[in-house]
Amino acid sequence: AKKGKNCSDEVIALIKTKYKKESGIVYCLSRKECDTFAAQMKENGIKALSYHAGHADNKRSEIQGRWISEEIQVVCATIAFGMGIDKPNVRFVIHAVLPKSIEGYYQESGRAGRDGANADCILFYNYADVYRIRKMVEQDNPNPNVLRTHMDNLFKMVSFCENKTDCRRQLQLNYFGEIYDRQQCVANKATSCDNCRCKDDFNMFDATEDAKQITKAVRDIVQSRSCNLTMVMLTDIFKGCDLKKLREAGLTKHPLYGRGRSWNRGDIERLLHYMVLKEYLQENMHITVNDFVCVYVKIGQNAAELMTKKDTKVIIPMRSSNTTTAVATVTAVPQAINGALLELQEKCYKELMEIIKGIAGALDISASSVMNMIAVRAMSQSLPDSAEAMLKIPHVTKANFEKYGKALLDITQKYAAEKHALMADEHEAIDNEEDEDDTWSSVSTSTNKYKSVAGKKRKAKSNYQSANKKFKKTGTSTAKAKAKPTAKAKATAKVKSIAGTTANESKGP
Ligand SMILES: [Zn+2]
Repeated sequence: AKKGKNCSDEVIALIKTKYKKESGIVYCLSRKECDTFAAQMKENGIKALSYHAGHADNKRSEIQGRWISEEIQVVCATIAFGMGIDKPNVRFVIHAVLPKSIEGYYQESGRAGRDGANADCILFYNYADVYRIRKMVEQDNPNPNVLRTHMDNLFKMVSFCENKTDCRRQLQLNYFGEIYDRQQCVANKATSCDNCRCKDDFNMFDATEDAKQITKAVRDIVQSRSCNLTMVMLTDIFKGCDLKKLREAGLTKHPLYGRGRSWNRGDIERLLHYMVLKEYLQENMHITVNDFVCVYVKIGQNAAELMTKKDTKVIIPMRSSNTTTAVATVTAVPQAINGALLELQEKCYKELMEIIKGIAGALDISASSVMNMIAVRAMSQSLPDSAEAMLKIPHVTKANFEKYGKALLDITQKYAAEKHALMADEHEAIDNEEDEDDTWSSVSTSTNKYKSVAGKKRKAKSNYQSANKKFKKTGTSTAKAKAKPTAKAKATAKVKSIAGTTANESKGP
């Protein structure tokens, strides 16, 4: 049983190719995830066992023993694993979930490569893990101070993951007050971290004005409309996605709509996450009776500071190719179907290329050996929605499809559904709500106002359900950070973004 869009397929592919017969640990979020992960690995011929506090003591030491003696290749563990174990030849430590703190991450990744030979620490980063971890913490600790500490630690980890420009080793060691010269990391290509390796792909970009416009839009939307604003929606508005849901809510007329049309989706998400970390925005999490998590965005407590203080800047790393045309002019006129379809295909192509580059990076092979580039273009145009349709595309071989096709099919299916929705929905009348142009100063004085407004908005039930579904589907954005734990140990890191970082609004029910 494959789990949807998490990173397990990729982890398994990595272990089966790069770490064949090598010893390693995969850290997972919960006991249940350890069990499922280990089971999936076994199905794929990897000798794996799960390890967590749910096992009795004797069972746990048995598992440790079998792993140390190399009878078992991989242990899928919660953080409980590895305490007091000193296995020197651990070649990889993979985090399938966001670590809960920098300290924890340092400890766990430090279990790799104690023999001094190269080892990899790879972290699959998905922002949505924040919600999963928060939910677990909230269930254990109702005390708000404890929650706050957990969230602070988590957010430090998020900013570590979202950092695309600083050396990972340097970041970690600086955190513990040590000084590390980045040149050491850069010097050895074979062991440098992902950020040192892709140093030139990102530039720092001043997104202050964008951040202000976003903050203003969040305030306006939350205040004036009966819709629950999610991060995905906010990203879609900024990106200017032509989605039925946005049209229906009149949001395609909003001044923010399409402001970031030329932005890469990953960059938009990084900006929004940064704004959450800085508390310009705030995410409110609700757990429904069905145990769904839904998260709505509103103004954060530092919003006024961003809006009014001149020296407050928002500087984020951004893919170099984007920086020149970061702000696009926008028209709020709905696009013709053709234009929308082209955009959809282009989006699909980008997403396909991202995952292909990700796989290629992980396996250290070229993108075109993952999939023929002409075939990728064809896929984005024909949007196959089944394995059969995918295999009909010229240059898609059975062998390639079996190895990597499923991940690509997931993407084309998603876009095929989107195309379907696009074709089906007629041009609808857009209600023409004007944005009140009130000044920001009123906000800075009364942030509470927004809180109560947001509370009222939550009564709008219809969006609630769909937001839940969307959350469930939120894609995996994967950043692999291989960091060398001990000074001598090696760290390599890769960054990749897998399978659409976000769920798509217009996906059919
Ligand atoms: Zn580095």
